Amino acid sequence: MDTKHVDIIIVGAGLIGASLALSLANTKKNKPLKIAVVERAEPLRDNLIPNQRVVALGKTATNILDELGVLAKLGSSFCNPYEHMFVWDECSHGELSFSAQEHHLPVLGHMIDSTQCSLLLQQEIEKTPSISAYYNTTAQALKFDDQSSKSRVAQLHVSNQILSAPLIIAADGAQSWLRQKAKIFTNHRSYQQSGIVARIQTEHSHKDTAWQCFLKTGPIALLPVEKNQSSIVWSADTVKANYLMSLSDREFELQLSQALGNKLGEISLLSKRVAFPLVSQQAESYFKRNVVLVGDAAHTIHPLAGQGANLGFKDIQALVKILSADNVIDFSDVTLLERYQRKRKADNQQTDFMMSALHHIYRGQLPAWLTLRGLGMNGLNRLDLLKSWLVAQASGA
Ligand SMILES: Cc1cc2nc3c(=O)[nH]c(=O)nc-3n(C[C@H](O)[C@H](O)[C@H](O)COP(=O)(O)OP(=O)(O)OC[C@H]3O[C@@H](n4cnc5c(N)ncnc54)[C@H](O)[C@@H]3O)c2cc1C
Repeated sequence: MDTKHVDIIIVGAGLIGASLALSLANTKKNKPLKIAVVERAEPLRDNLIPNQRVVALGKTATNILDELGVLAKLGSSFCNPYEHMFVWDECSHGELSFSAQEHHLPVLGHMIDSTQCSLLLQQEIEKTPSISAYYNTTAQALKFDDQSSKSRVAQLHVSNQILSAPLIIAADGAQSWLRQKAKIFTNHRSYQQSGIVARIQTEHSHKDTAWQCFLKTGPIALLPVEKNQSSIVWSADTVKANYLMSLSDREFELQLSQALGNKLGEISLLSKRVAFPLVSQQAESYFKRNVVLVGDAAHTIHPLAGQGANLGFKDIQALVKILSADNVIDFSDVTLLERYQRKRKADNQQTDFMMSALHHIYRGQLPAWLTLRGLGMNGLNRLDLLKSWLVAQASGA
């Protein structure tokens, strides 16, 4: 079999893998890194119809997409800045509101169509000579070769070719094949909930506001996209989610409008509903031998504050900075991978912990707890300093 040697192999060309490939390729302009990207799916095709799934991205993520020349190309149908956030609790009547203006920010973040964004990233990859992309390709084997040579290499067997490199990056999502092959274990915990995603039209304007309502059965987030259109993530206990998925479109629209206290008026579905199981999963280590993990392959969290992909972009920022330092000669150097793990693991775990804590805080239904929760939210709404800190976290600073 033919062997091709590159500097870095990336498995997975989703939002994180494709952004990482381009970011790494852009680092050494005079001697660009040779990168191979292996993606199981077909390359994405121009669809031009907005998807039901958007991600709320903060500053780190949008700065990276901007540097890669993708943000400006998304256009208003696929990228919408939002300036306000309004959160309320159905059970305690607590409310919280944030606005970019009161915290001297131009926007709180952007709602980005993740499929369209991945498509544009893949198109940039095609235009980058130092990246070879293998779509529709499933890796069959991972082999480590750390004989006596100074620089260790690993091999990935794909179709009828062997790819070899000192570093292989797993960006292949929560079920990561590469993570499993490298025998990196995770602590996996199901929330026993699903997140139902759909695109909707509302009677009243969303006012460039991200709306989030905590119900007994889980939160609903309304992510504003085009005029009077939003993408929803309705997280609900599995039984309730299955029930919601079984409803007719009209029944679902009515239930949704009612659950939102009719704040945005009549609702109509613009897309199919898709349900995703919600889990918390953290890799016990972010690297093993020549394999390093980024994005959902390293950590998966509850989407209630829209932070999952944002953490993945922070992984990219950290890893690119470490690998592109002038004195780096061996990408498999364990001190580099340890540095990356030190930089990212604790932050990702803390965010996961916060999401779990919020999830539990909003599940408690004892009357005294509800009163405390309502007082807490309303009190917090008046604490400018704490709110500024929360805004900085949420906007990905
Ligand atoms: C309902 C919901 C709402 C969310 N909302 C937000 C939000 O508002 N903001 C936010 O920041 N995050 C959000 N997230 C999280 C976000 O979607 C993920 O963190 C992000 O998509 C992870 O990107 P990734 O590239 O790491 O993984 P993925 O998107 O899973 O991409 C993995 C890629 O690897 C490929 N692949 C898989 N296996 C293989 C293999 N064996 N070989 C080759 N290729 C392979 C796949 O085809 C895919 O292209 C949400 C998540 C959910 C479930």
